[in-house]
Amino acid sequence: MPDVHIGKPMALSGHCLCGGVRFRTVGLVRTSGHCHCESCRRAASSPVTTFFTVSREATELGGESLSFYASSPGVRRGFCGTCGSPMSFETERRPDDIDLYVASLDAGLSVPIREHWHWDERVDWLTIVDDLPKSEGGA
Ligand SMILES: [Zn+2]
Repeated sequence: MPDVHIGKPMALSGHCLCGGVRFRTVGLVRTSGHCHCESCRRAASSPVTTFFTVSREATELGGESLSFYASSPGVRRGFCGTCGSPMSFETERRPDDIDLYVASLDAGLSVPIREHWHWDERVDWLTIVDDLPKSEGGA
């Protein structure tokens, strides 16, 4: 799989742990980043979650076990009701976007990561050393 470039259209696909939920997108990768917010940390039970953002319209996310959880007003998180894998993040603040997890891609895992979000909420037991921009807000 060739490298993914931000801002370049590319077909990407992925799936949950059991395969019950799948996504496919053909849009531009609009941005990508590591999110350190408490909400993402709890949703994934993981210190960092890494997303890439694409067009909702250009994305198919589906499967019989696809479920949604409204984690805060105007926000829904897609997950697999069978295996529990977190699959997507959507917010009314960015109605044209859907955020998907880089770690659930079928192949490559090669989306370049652009920045850190909610750096102020990061856990203090994981040391991250990189030159990426670190902001206290979200995408
Ligand atoms: Zn599953």
